[in-house]
Amino acid sequence: MNPSNKSRNQSRVGYINSRLGVIASHLSSAHMASEKEAAVVATPSDSPTIFDKIINKEIPATIVYEDDKVLAFRDIAPQAPTHILLIPKVKDGLTGLSKAEERHTLILGHLLYTAKLVAKQEGLEDGFRIVINDGPSACQSVYHIHVHLLGGRQMNWPPG
Ligand code: AMP
Repeated sequence: MNPSNKSRNQSRVGYINSRLGVIASHLSSAHMASEKEAAVVATPSDSPTIFDKIINKEIPATIVYEDDKVLAFRDIAPQAPTHILLIPKVKDGLTGLSKAEERHTLILGHLLYTAKLVAKQEGLEDGFRIVINDGPSACQSVYHIHVHLLGGRQMNWPPG
């Protein structure tokens, strides 16, 4: 190939790559915007949620850990290579962390300890992040307390 054609092709490839980067960033911010919008309009309530259906095995989920008190399953819209949700099987008023009372300390501790066990099971030796969204400002969309366990990539700080 003559050198000027080669350099024209290289700059075309560079241009296409940069456009793909822009399109990808638009797509991901559109996705984030729709998730955020969904969370902001979600009404805080004590009614049954989709997580009750997962607990009762009425809808499928990829369960990675289960005991008599806690269920852990893969998030349907993962934000990291490993993204697992841990929930108490009995909500007992814990729509979110802000509703916690002293009687909940055992289950809250159990959720966090289980997150550590699952992180190990998932091979997240280099680290992981725990997130609990609470209320509309934090983009909580499901009002059944849940711990997000995220890992498998470098996290950023501050979080969004
Ligand atoms: P949050 O926004 O903190 O309330 O988190 C709720 C999470 O539940 C989101 O990350 C959703 O992707 C996830 N989610 C919703 N429905 C399901 C489902 N059927 N199976 C697994 N994860 C789900």
